[in-house]
Amino acid sequence: MFVSSRVKNANTSVTLKVNEQVNKLAMSGKHVYNMTAGQLPFKPAPEFIHHINQQLNFLKSYQYSPISGFEKLRRKFMSYVEKKRNIQFQDDEIEFDCIVSNGSKQSLYNALGAIINPGDEVILLTPFWVSYPEMVKFWGGVTIEIETHAFDAYTPAIDEIKKHISSRTKAIIINSPNNPAGIHYTDQWMKEFAALMKEHEDIFIISDELYSEICYFDPAPKYFYQFDKSLIKRTLLVDGISKTFACTGLRIGFCIGPKKVIEGMEKIQAQTTSGPNSLIQRALLDFDFSLLENFYDPVKDQLRECAHITREVFRDHGLSHCWYQTTSAFYYLLNFERLPFFQKYEELMQESGKQDFSEEIVRDILDKTGVALVPGAAFGFPNSARMSMTIEIAPFTEAMQRLLDYMSQKPD
Ligand code: PMP
Repeated sequence: MFVSSRVKNANTSVTLKVNEQVNKLAMSGKHVYNMTAGQLPFKPAPEFIHHINQQLNFLKSYQYSPISGFEKLRRKFMSYVEKKRNIQFQDDEIEFDCIVSNGSKQSLYNALGAIINPGDEVILLTPFWVSYPEMVKFWGGVTIEIETHAFDAYTPAIDEIKKHISSRTKAIIINSPNNPAGIHYTDQWMKEFAALMKEHEDIFIISDELYSEICYFDPAPKYFYQFDKSLIKRTLLVDGISKTFACTGLRIGFCIGPKKVIEGMEKIQAQTTSGPNSLIQRALLDFDFSLLENFYDPVKDQLRECAHITREVFRDHGLSHCWYQTTSAFYYLLNFERLPFFQKYEELMQESGKQDFSEEIVRDILDKTGVALVPGAAFGFPNSARMSMTIEIAPFTEAMQRLLDYMSQKPD
């Protein structure tokens, strides 16, 4: 009676649920290793904070910005991406444009809204970022999921994608570096993906590149449109300041793509949130993005170290089947299915028909070890959990030891 069926059918954020439990435990005095975060535990570059401070003095920082963001900032983001990815937003047939949104989440949501008709299919590569299926569903689209495996470092087979393309396919979302797997697809994969996309001219490619700068093992991520430049014409490239600038709370993201789609996105933005935060946009205009070049070096050192510890703990202690090499973003996806303790859940699966126990396992891990993880089912990967590698090395090492003890348990 009170809420719409659309809202009833939407899933609530799993991270919120886990955080509630973490807070409860922390309040009761228990030490919690909180490995649920999707952000870094420090402030952005001091020069950027300085520009925010300066912009506080101007009336325009407090007034509406244009719906799609300040023109100059849109151009600045386009040139930044051109330089970083070594591409040109220039074509004889179409014009390109950029829209600045309240976070890249809004850019993704509006991009899907601008292209999906009810019943259109959108291909998602598992594991995927939690919000993609919910967004597709909200716009009346249908998701098609492509399976992957830990032993392939969660990289989908191009043939699998090919098999799932149909006349109803409107778009495919790719997210490299990937949240939650912490890997990026190889150059070879991107080349093959480009060749496949070339054969299917009516499909949009939404490329979520929010973690493109966060890669701690070479080679750095490359993208399909760098191998076949014609594909940029139907790419909706989404990025933002949340991860690269360490500013998740400032809510600025952007999308670059064909002008017609960007205009559609502008219509949605105009009738929902209006333009993004003026103060932060103005500070971004003043900020020299090249100062970010070395900003991530200490973080990358830490992530590399965490990746080494993960390898030592899992690979060298009989849990090699749930180990793979992470290379980018901040995460590791732990697949529980082939671990001895999972036998108990396999029996439960057979009895109940229920296919996923990630929430139960994550809750049990938190109770018994104090390590907080995010259940993996919401990322399209049942019986798994996402682990963030953003806590300091000493607690990370302790948490890994506790996880190792838990996961090495023999069935009762
Ligand atoms: N895409 C991915 C893959 C993400 O991990 C996130 C946030 N965690 C977003 C998009 C949304 O980011 P924001 O809205 O903060 O830019």
